[in-house]
Amino acid sequence: MPELPEVETVMRGLTPRLEGRILAHVEARRPDLRWPLPDGFAGRLMGRRVIGLRRRAKYILVDLDDGTCWMIHLGMSGRMLLSNDGDPAFQKHDHVVLRTDEGWWLRFNDARRFGMMDLWPTADVENHRLLSGIGPEPLGNAFSASALETALEGRQTTIKAALLDQRVVAGIGNIYACEALHRSGIAPKRLALNVRGARAEALVSAIGAVLTDAIAAGGSSLRDHRQTSGELGYFQHAFGVYDREGQSCPKEGCQGTVQRIVQTGRSTFYCPSCQR
Ligand SMILES: [Zn+2]
Repeated sequence: MPELPEVETVMRGLTPRLEGRILAHVEARRPDLRWPLPDGFAGRLMGRRVIGLRRRAKYILVDLDDGTCWMIHLGMSGRMLLSNDGDPAFQKHDHVVLRTDEGWWLRFNDARRFGMMDLWPTADVENHRLLSGIGPEPLGNAFSASALETALEGRQTTIKAALLDQRVVAGIGNIYACEALHRSGIAPKRLALNVRGARAEALVSAIGAVLTDAIAAGGSSLRDHRQTSGELGYFQHAFGVYDREGQSCPKEGCQGTVQRIVQTGRSTFYCPSCQR
């Protein structure tokens, strides 16, 4: 499933082709993704100029010149494919396709159809039902050690489970939760309410560092994620623990071996030697 760095990478890949452009042709090739597309979806996008693109949590927000925000979630397998070598041969699972006034085609391809799209007033988009409860952006100013401590106060769950809760922090999934806990030396089974002080500081800075590194590498490409160019991301080659069960811990001076456990139904990879 694309996490924050992958969505950021896709958003950055789309920006040069969409920003300032007019959506000259828009076609919804089925009425629904995970949920039905909004009424008149293609017609409401057609002819609109794109003011800009941004990301909130794992949503791509495309602001249009009529005050509408086009919200996009890639779900488990959604891909945004750009091409400009003539009319594309549409592939199976190309559910929404559009052409800009510059002649670039964008195809939203989503085999598993857990993605979603909606149109919402830009001025009110933070209050959309899917965005209103989401916590601070991990790379934004509002995310600090004290904000994290407050969000974890009284939480009897593990820190790993708490990091996956989008109300605590936006956009972190299984991969980057494991990586950030490893970098900060915090055991995934530690109770969330006990991550305070220096540990909270270390975790906040590890989350920022791991996400920044992953964005710089173009995201990870496990399973179905692709950049908009169709190239693979490279961050999976830099994983410290994720998907590395039985291998030695890469942390300098640590003799530990990466282990895998299951927490709340998801695999957690960690090093029992250096994560406390
Ligand atoms: Zn270790």
